Amino acid sequence: MSEKELMIRVNNLKKHFTLPKKTVFQKERDVVKAINEVSFDVNKGETFGIVGESGSGKSTIARLINLLIRPTDGEVYYKKQNILEFDSKEKAEFRKQVQMVFQSPYGTLDPRRSIGYSLEEPFTIHSIGTKAERNQRINHLLNLVTLPQSSLNKFPHELSGGQLQRVNIARAIALEPEVVICDESVSALDVSVQAQILNLLNDLQEELNLTYIFISHDLNVVRYMCDRIAVMNSGEMIELNTAEEIYNNPQKDYTKILLNATPINTPHERRT
Ligand code: ADP
Ligand code: MG
Repeated sequence: MSEKELMIRVNNLKKHFTLPKKTVFQKERDVVKAINEVSFDVNKGETFGIVGESGSGKSTIARLINLLIRPTDGEVYYKKQNILEFDSKEKAEFRKQVQMVFQSPYGTLDPRRSIGYSLEEPFTIHSIGTKAERNQRINHLLNLVTLPQSSLNKFPHELSGGQLQRVNIARAIALEPEVVICDESVSALDVSVQAQILNLLNDLQEELNLTYIFISHDLNVVRYMCDRIAVMNSGEMIELNTAEEIYNNPQKDYTKILLNATPINTPHERRT
């Protein structure tokens, strides 16, 4: 094994949302502490899991890392560079390197556009390649996510949830990113389809040397995918350990509850 190479570092990250006043008589605005003093490192090539119930702050962490929102306090580093200090050019480059796959299979797909159009979009947005080069690259992407050529002329409503999630994954890897953040990426899919998508993500990681931040409320799915797992509860990171330790030797009662809440069979076993 080579030396660990730091990819993402989150340091004392805090995000508080100030809510609008509900009535004119309300003196102070309510504050939601979405995440509080969260710190962790993600190393190159690993799958780092973030697990916790709905509302525990998982997506907030993803959005902070992806520069969709700015923290109340704390820092995020990408390969030792503070991303909060990036200028617009550095931000554009960073956004190519760190991609997201969301929960909804419809994701960021435009229902009125063909799959071919949506797969070309990352290249159009960043003005990359000639038409011929893009077509070649799109064909390669289809092979990587094992979708047939015929998908290119189809529209989102003509594909299944699993096929749509393959399209979203193809879009996420189109610009050869270093990091992919999967935020509940299989949560909306049937269990058998979940297993196929998880296997695809694992294959792509190996082939493309990707680093994953894998977010789910389902500890069973996270355990199957991840090297290390962070457990979130009400905005706090309460436990961080290897997947094996989290599963076999959970330290916190909350982690034990999460473990008990998930069925024991793994997606692998469910396939049969
Ligand atoms: P999770 O992804 O674990 O379900 P989130 O990160 O989406 O949790 O949300 C964490 C907390 O922050 C929740 O209480 C949520 O309601 C709140 N929250 C998230 N985004 C906003 C926002 N834009 N404005 C106000 N509150 C928010
Ligand atoms: Mg979420």
